Amino acid sequence: MAAKGDMIYAWTTDSGLAKKAECGGAVTALLKYALENKLVDVVVAVKKGFDLYDAVPVAITDPKDLDQTAGSLHCGTLLMSTFIQKYLDGAKKTKVGVVVKGCDLMGLIELGKRNEVNMDNVLTIGVNCGGSVNPIQGRKMIAEKFGIDPDKVTKEEIDKGQFIIEYDGGHKGIKIDDLEDEGFGRRSNCRRCKYKIPRQADLACGNWGVIGDKAGKATFVEICSDKGADLVNKAVSAKKLETSAADPKGIEIRGKTENAMLKLGEKWRKKEFTAIRDNLWDFINKETSRCIKCYSCIEKCPVCIATPFEGRPESYMVRPGYIPSDPMFHLRRFAHISDSCVNCGQCEELCPVEIPLALISHAIRVEADNGFVPKLGASSYKN
Ligand code: FAD
Ligand code: SF4
Ligand code: SF4
Repeated sequence: MAAKGDMIYAWTTDSGLAKKAECGGAVTALLKYALENKLVDVVVAVKKGFDLYDAVPVAITDPKDLDQTAGSLHCGTLLMSTFIQKYLDGAKKTKVGVVVKGCDLMGLIELGKRNEVNMDNVLTIGVNCGGSVNPIQGRKMIAEKFGIDPDKVTKEEIDKGQFIIEYDGGHKGIKIDDLEDEGFGRRSNCRRCKYKIPRQADLACGNWGVIGDKAGKATFVEICSDKGADLVNKAVSAKKLETSAADPKGIEIRGKTENAMLKLGEKWRKKEFTAIRDNLWDFINKETSRCIKCYSCIEKCPVCIATPFEGRPESYMVRPGYIPSDPMFHLRRFAHISDSCVNCGQCEELCPVEIPLALISHAIRVEADNGFVPKLGASSYKN
């Protein structure tokens, strides 16, 4: 019987699903089991839309539809937490199973603290995350650096430090470090992210550490809660999932890989935070002066629970109808969100005038953590 703290290899018993899945298909098999057996009412996951660069969040109630969500979309930069808050009434009356990257999970936890999501009703299946790539940048990178038409690509993956594509007639991999040195690769918030294995989820699933004859055919699952252990045990009893103990050498490799990623995240923080440290005020003023007040930065932020601006009496500091925004608009926003910014990158991703909003909020958050909260509090993630 699996228990909290165990590390196992797991794989689906469904051969059709195994073909579609990224690794062993454990994530989809477990969610399917949960939905079929009414442990959850709805599953929130991601499926391929128009093409590989179009990751679409979906809420699924029929277990048969879940196979469409198998596989990883590394150009999927969406945030699952605000999806649950906005479209599933914060799981207040519905039991939700959801696939979460580190940032999705941190966003959910912050929304839970603000009573926007009822975390008691949420089953979280975490996926390790080395980072995601902006879809438009991803297409550009494939055309310019790989010399391949992005529409000809049939699969993309990130493995052993390389971004790898498969296309009609071959496959090609380039080291992510080299791509990032030239301005491509992962989103800047992902480079700074240090929440690679989402251990506050019920299960943390990934491909790191799967070695030997199971390599590529099993999912590495770290069991992080009793709820997660219960789900695995039930799915195994129902013969929907098979498991074996993780290879100790694989566990060691996974640990080393995680540490290497944490060091890389620290390197990027140092580089990007230091670059703005000595002129933060000028940097904020200059960058935010492009703001067109579309409020996209508020729309997806899991820690910015704002009341709509419409219908409010005219603010003394933010004049409706005038652009660029008064600097006070952004300063107020940074003041109220930066203590809990989870570095999900949504604000920056959605900003049509490319203000590096996540960089600023994240820098302020990390400074606050370092200066004022030396020991980790209730949220023990290292975002
Ligand atoms: P499957 O059964 O194939 O299910 C995969 C699930 O992931 C599906 O539910 C799907 O909806 C969901 N999904 C796909 N794309 C996204 C997305 N962009 N955001 C949220 N959910 C998504 N594992 C590692 O060990 N190391 C890594 O560095 C690593 N990086 C990753 C980066 C990204 C952006 C993603 C999405 C995953 C990453 N993983 C990483 C996890 C790994 O790719 C597999 O998802 C995991 O091993 C589970 O495999 P599986 O066969 O059980 O999953
Ligand atoms: Fe993954 Fe972290 Fe980027 Fe989120 S912020 S997509 S968890 S690397
Ligand atoms: Fe995410 Fe930006 Fe909000 Fe921070 S401020 S939590 S990066 S949307």
